[in-house]
Amino acid sequence: MAILTDKVILTVAPTGAWPSKKDTPHIPLQPRDIADEVYACWNAGASVAHIHVRDDLDKSSMDFDKFKKTVEYIRASDCDIIINLTTSGQLGLADEARMKHIIALKPELASYDCGSMNWAHTTVFENSPMFLEKLGRVMQDNGIKPEIEIFDAGMVYNALYYLKKGILKAPLHFQFVLGAPGGMAATVENLVFLKSLIPVDSTWGALGIGSGHLPVMYTALAMGGHVRVGMEDNIYYSKGVLAKSNVDFIERTKRIVVDFNKHLATPNEARAILGLPIKN
Ligand code: ZN
Repeated sequence: MAILTDKVILTVAPTGAWPSKKDTPHIPLQPRDIADEVYACWNAGASVAHIHVRDDLDKSSMDFDKFKKTVEYIRASDCDIIINLTTSGQLGLADEARMKHIIALKPELASYDCGSMNWAHTTVFENSPMFLEKLGRVMQDNGIKPEIEIFDAGMVYNALYYLKKGILKAPLHFQFVLGAPGGMAATVENLVFLKSLIPVDSTWGALGIGSGHLPVMYTALAMGGHVRVGMEDNIYYSKGVLAKSNVDFIERTKRIVVDFNKHLATPNEARAILGLPIKN
């Protein structure tokens, strides 16, 4: 594994649950568009695609058929990108509606949001203890690696609790999501602190939402972490300038990674780093 320490896993999150076509006309929201964008990002260097879907009206959704179509389009191409499906694409759903798609489609990764929080001072982003136990077991039974999303420090301690209980298995993979409204801010200090809490054999990545995007990316790279870009987190390429495509973020990240004397991991190198089976 030591030979892979100069490899950086770049995740693209092209869609997310919130940005609309009014926010940016360039965001892909329906299966064909999402799959085409993932393909272009993979061509440009992304090794993981974190996928959300929308309903026919482009609203946040956990619609099974939309996930199925999107995943089928990606898998029908020659693109070997690691598929990471969200389990939190729509608030207020029953537990089963957040797991049906991963059981059926068996992505290599899926998000595991390790605690509840007040979202945007308007609603509750609910991840109850019962749900997290169920989700952890479903992921183990289906060979899906949890990407443990951390919005707040207490969520790390939840993960350590589930590790002890056997609901999560080492080595853990964390994604620090900083700058979400209601969670920890996207600052260098917060990332340094959060990273200090996780087991040493863990892998981890980080992202900053909005203007914290670049500071968090530089910090993550400096600390040996992996990175995520995309319109789920940030629709602006620079102040006041919308990204024309998720590929814009991939191209910039590739330049930054090279400046750090590192390289973007291929999907199979990312699989090796994450302990996932290699694909031919
Ligand atoms: Zn997401």
